[in-house]
Amino acid sequence: MTVTAASSSLPMPQSDALVEISHVEKYFGDFHALKDIDLSISRGEVVVIIGPSGSGKSTLCRTINRLETIQSGEIRVDGVPLPAEGQELARLRADVGMVFQSFNLFAHMSILENVTLGPIKVRGMKKAEAEKLAMELLDRVGIAHQAQKFPAQLSGGQQQRVAIARSLAMKPKVMLFDEPTSALDPEMINEVLDVMVQLAKEGMTMVVVTHEMGFARKAANRVVFMADGEIVETGDPESFFTNPQSARAQDFLSKIL
Ligand code: ADP
Ligand code: MG
Repeated sequence: MTVTAASSSLPMPQSDALVEISHVEKYFGDFHALKDIDLSISRGEVVVIIGPSGSGKSTLCRTINRLETIQSGEIRVDGVPLPAEGQELARLRADVGMVFQSFNLFAHMSILENVTLGPIKVRGMKKAEAEKLAMELLDRVGIAHQAQKFPAQLSGGQQQRVAIARSLAMKPKVMLFDEPTSALDPEMINEVLDVMVQLAKEGMTMVVVTHEMGFARKAANRVVFMADGEIVETGDPESFFTNPQSARAQDFLSKIL
């Protein structure tokens, strides 16, 4: 059988890995921020990334949707390598939802407008359809009755739940959470974690940077421990937290537990 040029452009068979990070190297000037990162995340998997401050957790998240460029290696989302820039990047980036420590809602827009903006602008959805979707998602995170308010009128926990709904409105294939509860008052942490646990149960593929062990134990399939820009250790949550193998993980856990 002859393999024609056309057949090589057919979509790749869907692999079980939704996010494939291979040999990624990232430098900020001379500083080596990510060192030979290899991580494959399956469809529906929930991966918790844990590690000391400055170990590269945020940088890794940001490379997954190309908020940061990489110097070498490859990142594929659903089989497609992420291009460095352009239209194609915008479309692929929409497949990767991201929730930050600071909720980053648009202050001058209502909660409803915050959630409908992306679907209308990036996905080309009609306003009425986007509003219907937004109200469903706001209902899911328990904020539907506040849809007409502005971000400043909501608590931190409520704003973070809106930020999650806003990300979900883009129908991402994978959701990244970078310390989503670190900026919250303690009494608001659980209302956000509960939404995330629910999302995990519904089968969303998630990468979550957090030190919340309760979440890791309830929802994570795998814990990835990073230090100094490297993946030092990975394991299931129970064994990682009770019996870490590396000296660096033992040292880190002894400080936070
Ligand atoms: P973490 O999220 O684990 O705390 P980061 O990924 O934010 O760590 O940072 C990893 C390292 O990269 C830190 O030493 C940080 O100072 C450095 N870094 C992060 N962003 C930049 C940047 N834009 N320019 C230079 N250095 C950076
Ligand atoms: Mg960080």
